[in-house]
Amino acid sequence: MRHLHLGKLLLVVFSLLLACTVSARKPIKTLLITGQNNHNWQVSHVVLKQILENSGRFDVDFAVSPGQGKDMSGFVLDFTPYQLVVLDYNGDSWPEETNRRFLEFVQNGGGVVIYHAADNAFSKWPEFNKICALGGWEGRNENAGPYVYWQDGKLIKDSSAGVGGSHGRQHEYVLNGRNKVHPIVKGLPVKWRHAQDELYDRMRGPGNIQDILYTAYSEKETNGSGREEPLVFTVDYGNARIFHTMLGHAGPTPEDNIAMQCTGFQVLLLRGAEWAATGKVTQKVPKDFPTETSCSLRKNYKEN
Ligand SMILES: [Zn+2]
Repeated sequence: MRHLHLGKLLLVVFSLLLACTVSARKPIKTLLITGQNNHNWQVSHVVLKQILENSGRFDVDFAVSPGQGKDMSGFVLDFTPYQLVVLDYNGDSWPEETNRRFLEFVQNGGGVVIYHAADNAFSKWPEFNKICALGGWEGRNENAGPYVYWQDGKLIKDSSAGVGGSHGRQHEYVLNGRNKVHPIVKGLPVKWRHAQDELYDRMRGPGNIQDILYTAYSEKETNGSGREEPLVFTVDYGNARIFHTMLGHAGPTPEDNIAMQCTGFQVLLLRGAEWAATGKVTQKVPKDFPTETSCSLRKNYKEN
């Protein structure tokens, strides 16, 4: 009898300990919006979910829109269950009600991650362009706002006429840190080598960058701008926490997807997403982060 009671007691204590451990880090409820993109969203949205969920920190639901040109009226989204919205969408306008609810979510301090070509979307929606700070293509030019680049230790806003958004050929390049204290980048190398990817240049918009985290030099030799381009930053938009990364052009398959397999891309996504959702970053600096001279890949989208 005594043994049985002791056994039961231990079981109860063990269960309580387990419950405490689990509740100490409840996954961040995340909504990933996709379904239309001039990119391979069929690969990117699955891979983004894997990166986020493999960390054990996020629980990702998809909102997949109807295809391009189809009836969008039923694509009305409920943001209320979520702490974080990840945008992997570049396509037809959402219904007015979804736009209204999205702005409500963001303006009430919601967390947002703008990923790669999501900043191409909705060039004619001024409020969306403020949420991105910078965007490209889709008819953008000087009317979308200044071309913002880094020079002499600060961001320059150049309002002269020109295209909004372009990139040269894909290549490996070094990211240059411009902030050492922001939680997203604290402890990460100031310079690190990104695996082969596009390097967005000549991006335009309201330019309301809050903290510029990383820039990269867009060489003329790769058909770039000859400027130091802002690629990873946070956005100044009321109470919202918005993390914008222009990295991570999707490949043809999850296995053949080098830009998203880059450890630097994945770590910044995870840290940016946690910060956007909570205002903090509790992740350690990983040992497999790229250095200035060598790339590092997580081909299975998880920490080794
Ligand atoms: Zn791309």
